Amino acid sequence: MPESAISSSRPRVLSGMRPTGKLHLGNYMGALANWVKLQDEYECYFFIADWHALTTDYADPSRVKLNTLDVALDWLAAGLDAEKSTIFIQSHVLQHAELNLLLGMITPLGWLERVPTYKEQQENLSSKDLTNFGFLGYPVLMASDILLYQAQYVPVGQDQSAHVELTRETARRLNSMYKTTVFPEPDALFTPSPKLTGTDGRKMSKSYGNTIGLTEAKPSVAAKIASMSTNGQRIRQSDPGDPDLCPVGDLHKVFSSPDLIAETQKGCRTASMRCEFCKVEATKSVCAVTGPIYDKRMQLESNIEQAWEMLREQSVKAATRAEETMLAVRDVFGLSHDLGAVKRYFGASEEELNQRRDLNQYKTFTEARCSEDGVNAFLPSHWLTYLLPKEIAITVEPDETWLTSKKKRVLAAAGTYGVDEGTWSFEVPQKSYEVWVLLCRDDKNWLEDFILPQKYFSQPFAKAKKILKKNEKIPVSLRKDGERFLLSVHASEPVDITDLQSNYGPLE
Ligand code: SF4
Repeated sequence: MPESAISSSRPRVLSGMRPTGKLHLGNYMGALANWVKLQDEYECYFFIADWHALTTDYADPSRVKLNTLDVALDWLAAGLDAEKSTIFIQSHVLQHAELNLLLGMITPLGWLERVPTYKEQQENLSSKDLTNFGFLGYPVLMASDILLYQAQYVPVGQDQSAHVELTRETARRLNSMYKTTVFPEPDALFTPSPKLTGTDGRKMSKSYGNTIGLTEAKPSVAAKIASMSTNGQRIRQSDPGDPDLCPVGDLHKVFSSPDLIAETQKGCRTASMRCEFCKVEATKSVCAVTGPIYDKRMQLESNIEQAWEMLREQSVKAATRAEETMLAVRDVFGLSHDLGAVKRYFGASEEELNQRRDLNQYKTFTEARCSEDGVNAFLPSHWLTYLLPKEIAITVEPDETWLTSKKKRVLAAAGTYGVDEGTWSFEVPQKSYEVWVLLCRDDKNWLEDFILPQKYFSQPFAKAKKILKKNEKIPVSLRKDGERFLLSVHASEPVDITDLQSNYGPLE
């Protein structure tokens, strides 16, 4: 189904995290705190990327599930809310793997080898053998994660926009290769990522062993901050220091009130405040934020089955949304699970053909969330698949033009039904067609088709073209009058076209 037929009231956002265990303050300020805020404005999907973890940690998967649960508990404790967002585990939604496989078919190897993090990570993680296929292909899996939900935005820090760009290129490549609009190109949503250094003054990272945990108990946080490096500032307490160069100063900037920031900065620069006191104040500020998160985590840990069940339910919800996309993607690759267009090559009895006019049996035409425009956009290809007799060959050119075997150009258009007057209105582009196929779906979801040779519309059509501006579409109406159907092109004298109903001769 075209994307335009899927309605959504809020823009969709997707982001994920690798399960590396309990989160630290850097993870919180760099991503999670922003996600919590996004929940009120966007339709959010947040997933724990356990398959991504295996691209580098495949040799020892023993902690994958525990790490997954640890991340989930920290997310929930920090305020991600399953009532507002969909919070799920990547590997529980098998469609991620399916889309990864299909996108892998169209992704040039060169794209992957050029991804900057590919070589970087191989060097940084030299203790691991990263010459595996899964690691090379992880950007395809990442593009699949995003495109599967047709997300409009991906929240990232400034340094991660290259990943979103690769996803955009993948979407563009698929859309143009198969002349489809399945995937919107997502945009990076830049979110604040304040500088937060670890206890040793380097970037806060588990691999440096310098983190302060988001759900660490207060005494442990206090001990870590008390022993925190000042980056060479104020070796003697009588010396003035520069809080901009000190990791404790960074903590204040992120967690303290403006008044306390000003007070500690002044105290540091004038050597009127001891580092010890400055660190105690920093601990209070950090714990004012992390304390309630710690308490919530303890509460969640006391009923771990409930938390896990919630993740499983949310993963089912995510899979339902993912499946919507996959229906369209499978169709693009000729893999849809229904018989679909292939049916056309095997014919049908007249009775069967007539039954196919009842659109109530097709999900596409009964889903309440589809707009009438969205359904009508789909109707011509449905007609081609299910109603046109198999003996008649219509080819659809790459530019979407329909041609008969004798190269006649065909317009196939669905009318908008006007309930009160029993009319269908069409808007026809000012292009030359030898045959018009007018598709009329009524309020009972019953379909009638009329196939008009050129002589039925050419004169009023030419007249209308002279009157209307070049880009304006020509209004055409079809009115049911008792058992008769009357056609009027741009308010021309009505012509009876009842006999042209299911008249496939002009298409031969
Ligand atoms: S007073 Fe605070 S900011 Fe200044 S060096 Fe000491 S710990 Fe760092």
